[in-house]
Formats: sequence, C-alpha cells, structure tokens
Amino acid sequence: MSSDVLQAFASALSSGAISVVDLSQELSPETVVINLPPPFAQSAPFRIEQVSAYDDKGPAWYWNNISLGEHTGTHFDAPVHWMTGRSLPASTTDTIAPGRLVAPACVIDVEAECAADPAFLLMRAKLLAWEAEHGRIPAGAWVLMRSGWSRRTGDAFLNVGKTGPQSPGPDPDCVKFMVDDRDVAGFGTETVGTDAGAAHSFTPPFPCHTFMHGANKFGLASLTNLDKLPATGAVIITPPLKIKGGSGSPCRVLALVGG
Ligand code: MN
Repeated sequence: MSSDVLQAFASALSSGAISVVDLSQELSPETVVINLPPPFAQSAPFRIEQVSAYDDKGPAWYWNNISLGEHTGTHFDAPVHWMTGRSLPASTTDTIAPGRLVAPACVIDVEAECAADPAFLLMRAKLLAWEAEHGRIPAGAWVLMRSGWSRRTGDAFLNVGKTGPQSPGPDPDCVKFMVDDRDVAGFGTETVGTDAGAAHSFTPPFPCHTFMHGANKFGLASLTNLDKLPATGAVIITPPLKIKGGSGSPCRVLALVGG
C-alpha cells in the first residue's frame, strides 16, 4: 500500500499534477541581516570567497568557501533558539525528528492589510475568519503569513524608522491561539524574523519566539513566493542543516502544490 502511495506521488510529480514551489530567497552578501541594538552581539552577514574556478587553484573544478550566521536569509528557527526552548528534548537542528520537517501549510493572506499598515499585527480574529472560509487549522500544520514583504529590498526590508523596526507579525494572543488551541508545527513569515518589528515592546517581548519555541515549535523567516501557494493543501519541506547543537539554519524551503 505504501509503495502504491509513493508511486502515485512520483507519477504526480512527473506529470506536473504536483508542482514544486521554491519558498526561499537567494543567499548573497546582499542578504539583509537583522541589526540588534547595543550591547547585543551581531550575527554575521553571508560571505563567499572563491576557492578555485577551473584555474591554477583547481584546473577542473569550481567551488567556494562560505560563512554566515545561522539565522541568515530564508531560515529555520529551532526551538532551542529561544531561552524558553533551551531545555526541551530534540530541539536542536541535529536532533529534531526528521518527520517533523515535512508538514502541511495554511497560508493567511494579509497582503492588503500589510500594504496599508507595515506594522500590521496578525490577530486571533483574523485566523478565526480564515478558518470560517477554509476550515480549521489542523494540528501539526504550519501557519504562513503572506504579507508581500518579500518584495521589499535593501533598507525597506528591515524598515527601521524613528520608533524602531516596523514590520508585520503576530500579536501575543494570536501566538497563544496557534500554540495552545491549534497545536501548529510553527509560524512562517516573509519578514526577517517571526516576530513583528515592534515585538521588543510587546508583553511578553518577542511572543512568537517565546511561545512557539517554548512549546517545541518552529519558525521560518524570510520566505517568498507565498502568493504561489493555495490557502490550504500545500505541503512544505523545511530541513535545516544538521548543525550539531545548532539553533537554526538557512533552509531551502520547498512547497509541494497540487492541481
Ligand atoms: Mn531566526
């Protein structure tokens, strides 16, 4: 039976009945990295240096050395990333059960709201309204916030103003709803991190990191192409690099989309 299911899946991939959508941003030295205010330490930007390119350093081969912070570009947040998740079992990039890295996705379209208000907060009421149209968010599903933010580049991506960063994210009550009432896999966003730009001022600060990771759930940041996904029915593949003891990792997030 299981081999029949996989055969049907392989046939659907080859026929195009299932397509693969890349939800990842390109990784380059231009990739925008979050800035923390002093006295906090900074994550390093992406760096790349050529080792050889079919030349004296390697006549038949091309390769590069790279270095970067774990939370650079499109990336996965492991539960251990936050203090609330520090003591949880199997919460580092190398120990998370691989079966947890393939899961369905619910896509919440708030592009219009975020265009009108870059500090838009996703509330429980919005998710309940989404469920009235699309059905209940299943346990173990990702909630992906489609904000349109991935179209922003350069300074507009962090969007730091006089009052600090202004970017959309969930409010604390909405995060509690996703964690406690819907038992989601995690929360994914197009912005630089899973929390809103102003989340340092929330109660608690950074509620998405605090509650999600404290409940052994995940985060995905800097996603793109969410407008190419249906509201329900997509399955996303989110494996971080198997960094020993890692708190997160750049991730080539792929979505399987039917129809
Ligand atoms: Mn992160």
